[in-house]
Amino acid sequence: MIKFWSSLALLLLSFGAQSQDMRFIKQSIYTLAGPGFGGRGYVANGRDKAARFLHRNFSEMRLNSFYDSGNFYQQYHFSVNTFPNKVELKLGKKYMEPGVDFIVDAGSVGFRTAEKSKMDIINLNKIKDSIQWQKLKSSFRSDKVYQLKHFDTLCNRMNSSHRVMVQQLPAACYLIPQNNKLIWTVATDNIPATVFYVADSSLAKGKKVEVHVQHKFLKKAPSNNVIGYIPGTLVPDSFFVFTAHYDHLGKMGNQAIFPGANDNASGTAFMLALAKYFKENPPKYSIAFIAFSGEEAGLLGSSHYVAHPAFPLSNIKFLVNIDLMGDASDGLTVVNAEEQNNAFELLQKINTAKNYLPKINSRGNAPNSDHYPFTQAKVPAIFIYAMGGKGHYHDVFDRPKELSLNKIPEVFRLLCDFINQKSHQ
Ligand SMILES: [Zn+2]
Repeated sequence: MIKFWSSLALLLLSFGAQSQDMRFIKQSIYTLAGPGFGGRGYVANGRDKAARFLHRNFSEMRLNSFYDSGNFYQQYHFSVNTFPNKVELKLGKKYMEPGVDFIVDAGSVGFRTAEKSKMDIINLNKIKDSIQWQKLKSSFRSDKVYQLKHFDTLCNRMNSSHRVMVQQLPAACYLIPQNNKLIWTVATDNIPATVFYVADSSLAKGKKVEVHVQHKFLKKAPSNNVIGYIPGTLVPDSFFVFTAHYDHLGKMGNQAIFPGANDNASGTAFMLALAKYFKENPPKYSIAFIAFSGEEAGLLGSSHYVAHPAFPLSNIKFLVNIDLMGDASDGLTVVNAEEQNNAFELLQKINTAKNYLPKINSRGNAPNSDHYPFTQAKVPAIFIYAMGGKGHYHDVFDRPKELSLNKIPEVFRLLCDFINQKSHQ
C-alpha cells in the first residue's frame, strides 16, 4: 500500500513537472511571438528584444557562461534589407492587405508612384526567347509599374531560376501574380527593382495603381547568438548541445508582422524548458544551449558559431537542433538520421518502449536549419521537427494561438530519455 501511495505521489509529481514545463513553454512562445517582439526581425528592435529575453532566462536559471565577461552573448555582424515604414499597395480603390494580399520581395528597394499611375499589364507568354526578353526589359521605365503575367513560365522558358530572373529585373516596380501561398523571406542583398507578389484572387481588374515602399539596408548590423551551459557532474569536458534559432522574419512595413510562433518561438521555448529541466536534474555530461540568430537569413548565426566555437567542436558528444516544435500530433522527423543511424535507432527504441509518438521519420541531411554547419564540420548532429498542425509557414498566420502543442510533452520526455541513455553509452 505504501508502495502504491509513494508511486502515485511520484506519478503526480512528474505530472506536476510536466504541466509546469508546458506552461513555461507556452508562456515563452507567447512572449517570443507576441507583438512586442515584432516577429524577432530587423524592425523595431525585434531581434534585440528576443535576445535580451533569452539572456534574462539564462541568467535566472543560473546557467554558466563560456565567456570571461560572464554574459551569454556571442556578437557577430551581417547586412540585411529591411522595411521599417511604409509598404503599401493600392489597386483600383482598394488597399491590399500586406502579408495576406501581397508580399514584397525581401530584396526590394523603395518605390513611390506618381499620382494617378496606371500599370502596364504584360503577358510574358508572348516572349519566346532571351533576345525578346532583353528587348522588353530595356524598354522598362524606372518610374513605372508593370504587372508581369506568367513570370514563372518565362523563368522555365529562359532556363533560369526565379531568383536570378528577379535579380535581373531593371529598376522599376513589378507585380507578379501568385496562385501559390505567399511565403516571405529575409534578404542580405538588394535587388535593383521593387517586386510585389500578389495573390491572384486579390488582383483587381483595373489598371490604377498606387505604390509606396520604403526600405532601409542595414550594413553589417550586430546580431547575437545566446549561449549558456550546465556543467556535467561526471564528464564536464564533453558536451551534449541543444540548439534552436530564435530569429524570424520580423515586420514587413509598419503593419504586417510575421510572428514565427512555430518557426521558431516553439523550438526556442522548448530549448529553454530543457535548460530549466537539466538545471534541476544535473546531467552527467555538460549540456550547452545555443539560441541562434540569423537562421532565416541563411544559417548565419550557426555558421558564425562553427567558425568561432565557445569550446572545441570535437568536445561535442552529440547535438540536437530543434526547429518547428508547435504540434507533434503526427510525430517527429529527424534530419540527418541516415548519417546518425545509432542516434535515430535509439530514439526509435525509446519511442517504441514508451509509446510517446505515433511515428518518427528519418530523412537524409539537408541545409534546412542550424544543424547543417555543424554536420559540415563533422560534429555528430541531428535536426528534429514536429509534424502536425495547420502548416502556417513564413506567413502572418504563424501565431501562438494556432499551435496545439499536442504531444510536445512526449517529445520533451523522449529527448530527456535520449540524453539519459546516451550518457550511459
Ligand atoms: Zn526555422
